[in-house]
Order: sequence, then C-alpha cells, then structure tokens
Amino acid sequence: MVSVTIYGGAGEIGGNKILVEDGAHRVFLDFGMSFAKMGDFYEDFLQPRTNSGLRDLLALGILPKIDGIYRQDLLELEHLRETLDELDVADDSLWAADVKSYKEVKHRDGRPALEAVIVSHAHMDHFQHVSMLDESVPVFCSETTRAVMEAAEELSADRFGTDVINVKRRSIARLGKSAFFPDTPKVETEYIPRPVETVCAAKAFAVGGMEAELHPVDHSVPGATAVVLRTAGKRIVYTGDLRFHGLAGHLTQGFRDALAGSRPDALIIEGTRIEKDTPDSETGVAEECARLVSQAGAGLAMVAFAWKDTTRYRTMIDVARETGRTLVISAKLAYLTNRLSSLPDAPVRPACDEPNVKVYLKRKVSMLYSKSDYVGTKYDLGYSTEWDRKDCSTIHTEHYECGVRAYDIAADPGRYLLHLDFYELNELIDLRPPPGSIYVSAVSEPFNMEMELDRGRLRRWLQRFGVNPPDFEPRYAHASGHASGPELVELARAIRPKVLIPVHTEHPELFAQALAGSGIEVCIPTLGQPIVLG
Ligand SMILES: [Zn+2]
Repeated sequence: MVSVTIYGGAGEIGGNKILVEDGAHRVFLDFGMSFAKMGDFYEDFLQPRTNSGLRDLLALGILPKIDGIYRQDLLELEHLRETLDELDVADDSLWAADVKSYKEVKHRDGRPALEAVIVSHAHMDHFQHVSMLDESVPVFCSETTRAVMEAAEELSADRFGTDVINVKRRSIARLGKSAFFPDTPKVETEYIPRPVETVCAAKAFAVGGMEAELHPVDHSVPGATAVVLRTAGKRIVYTGDLRFHGLAGHLTQGFRDALAGSRPDALIIEGTRIEKDTPDSETGVAEECARLVSQAGAGLAMVAFAWKDTTRYRTMIDVARETGRTLVISAKLAYLTNRLSSLPDAPVRPACDEPNVKVYLKRKVSMLYSKSDYVGTKYDLGYSTEWDRKDCSTIHTEHYECGVRAYDIAADPGRYLLHLDFYELNELIDLRPPPGSIYVSAVSEPFNMEMELDRGRLRRWLQRFGVNPPDFEPRYAHASGHASGPELVELARAIRPKVLIPVHTEHPELFAQALAGSGIEVCIPTLGQPIVLG
C-alpha cells in the first residue's frame, strides 16, 4: 500500500513535510520549518531552549510526533537517567519523551523507520528542520541545493536548529577542575556530518526501496528541483516550489514537458499564488528598479533582496549597469556567489569577477574596522573562510582591502547601488544618506502581522533618515518565486495526475474549483492524515 501524508504545508504556505510510505519503506519529501507555526509561539527573543529545542517544538505541536525519525540526543541524552539520579532529581517527568527516537525504533525493529529525506530546494521552509532528524538519515538533493544549505549553515552563527549537514550532537560531559562546581554534569557538542547525496538532473537513483529523479525547476533560490518518486506500483510527482517567469523559466517548462501526459498516481503541487491571476515578471523588476534608482540622482540607492536569490542579484547587476552605479553587495551574498561558482552549472560568477560589483565591509565588534573584529565571521573579510593558522596565505581579506565602507559611500553616494536588507538598517547611521536617496524593497510585501510590524520599523528608519519622502514607505519592485494560478492549473492539466494534492497554499480549494470536470481528482490534505493511493 502506498500513501502520502502531509505533516506540514497543508493549508499553509511552507513548512513542507511530506511522508511517502510504500509498505515498510518511508521517505520524506522536504522537512521544512513552518514559519507560521514558529511565529504562533516564538519571536526574536522568545526561542526554543537550546538543550530542549526538539522537545519544545514537539510539545507545542510545531513538529509532528512521529516515532522513529528524530535524533536521539535531542530526545534523551545518553546516560540521562544516571545523571538525574546523581543530581538527586526526584521527578524525571520533565525528561519523559512520548516520541521514540530513530535509534530506538531501529534497534527494536532491526530496520530504520525513515530511510531518507529528499530536499527540493534550499529555502528554510523546505529544509531547516532536517536538523531534527537523526544524523544518519541521508539527504538527497541537487549539488547547488547542497552548496546553498552549507553556506546557510556556515553563515548561521551556530543558532539552535541550523545544524542540518554538520550535526551538533549533544552528550553529557563533566566540568573541569577550574570550574566553580568541578566535575558536575554539563552538555557538550561534537560535529557529526550527515550523509548528503547530490543527484544529477533527471537521473534515477534508489532511495528507501523506491526510485526517484530530480528535475530542475526555476525558483527564487538556485538549485531548486521537482521530484518524481516511483514505488513498486505508483508514481508520485512533487513540484517543490516553482515559477515560469524567472530567468531560468525554461527549466520549469522542461519539467512540464518531461511529465506532460504522464498521468502519475499523484501530483503534489505547490499553490502559493493559486489565487493570483497574473504571472510575475523578473524583467519587470529590472525595469521598475532601474526607473526608481535613476530617480535618486546624486543620492544613495539602496535595495533589499534575499541573499540566497541569485536571480535577483543578477537583476541588480543589470540595474546598476543601466543606472551607471556600482552594485555593493553584502558579504553573505559575496560568499554564496563564490561558493556556487565552482559548481558545474554555476548560476553566478564569483562577485570578485564581476567588474561592477563590490562588497560592503560593515563595522562591528570594536567598531574600529580592526581586522580582528571579523575573525568570528570570516566571510566578512574575504572570499574564503578556510583559514589555516600556520599558513598566512590562506587568510583572505579581499573585502578589507578592496571592499566599500560606509565613509566611501557617504563621500559619493550617487555612485552606488547598495544591497541593504532589513536586518542591516543600522548601517543607515553610518551611511548618512543625503536628500534624494531611495530605498527599494525587492522582497515580497508584508503578508502577516510580524511582517507588518517590521514594515513599521522600516518606515521609521526611512523617516529618521529622510529617505523616500513624503510617506517614507519602501518602494516595492518584486517578482515572486511562485507561478500564478493559471500557470499552476495549466501545469496540472498538462501532467494529468489521477490525484492532485495541493500543498504550500492557504487556498487548496481553488485547485478543486479550477479542475472540476477535468478528470483530475483534487484531494485537499488534512495534516497527518494518510492519503492512500488507490
Ligand atoms: Zn521556496
């Protein structure tokens, strides 16, 4: 019996966690973080407790209670019972787990309860909570997705739940002799690499007793793929997130053509923009941005866009060229371009090879532009973070020598188009943008309360520095990472599945309306309820 169970992404945008079961074989398609569920309980200064994080997420219903998938060290540390006895803890109910770990189930059944997770693309709402899955559960993904996930992990400042590929395994250790309480228990961590199998496009590979293929598609992060999964008797297609209107729209078209008329047993389709009638356009973003930036004259032009969105980065290179400015990007984006440029199908060149791109060096720590301020975030200083203490030639400081600093920009603001995200707004204090400066938001407009609050903050920053008068609202120029309603319906009609399962949408019922009478049965998923494929 083959079934599909949606554990995340049913009736919500993101947090995709799709379990495909074929008898005893189980594979997850994505295991992402649900921003909506996290936002229901948490915010910046209210976060899961580091050494209780998984248990906290399970207790709040942010992650599903499924036996046999999660890390042992996040559910019950080794030697926990003896340690609690030693510490004279009378009631151990705080440590009781009502979910069995991967290792416990594997030990009991003699086989793993989860054989793999296939990650469609490197957006947090599709891969971040893989960090909670047992460290021996392999990830299958495209090479570019792997590189973006690795870069995200390397730039994540070691926050809880960011250890997807290099898993920080926790164990009980003892404090040293110099501690206030020598020899008392503490929790320490060691890195264990998770197996990651990178897979070539459209090449079949074995995964958990099934066979799969990844098909490249266009989305707002490079390396995105759709997945075709074959069990003994069924074929399941999962779109991941996709669009037709980006610079690589031909990839999505290629996926559509490859699957056209194939009538799979199930098509799990994203529907982020199912209610939107009109397709977006990346070239429209370029035109609108160029129009806005050219209004800035001798003022500074600033633009916010996601650092993983290399399509938008390429658009901004064009905008800078067209408006006669130099594009100044964040060190994070520069790091990513360098990382990706070594891949066979590199979506970008390294920023250091772009004639009209420079990297911004921000002040931090001592605020004196001392080189030692950046050793904790080596990517701020240069393109490589693989430093070797014994070999000075491995220390990269290109951004320190050739990067652009706030005073360079303040001296001649009309020369620059600066990549400045919301979280970098402190830089405005150093940049002192002159009258006429402009701030363009090339990210999606707010669609929830949290984002509205951030927009209020952004507006107050712009007002404080006199940017975008008279309303001090950001100027928007954005194209989504997702296909429009008519494009999604046309894709479904072309592939003609027996059953269509809409995910990653707040309006799954619109698929049922649009496909009525088409011979495609639309099955609106309920969280955690298996859909058995007949
Ligand atoms: Zn996505």
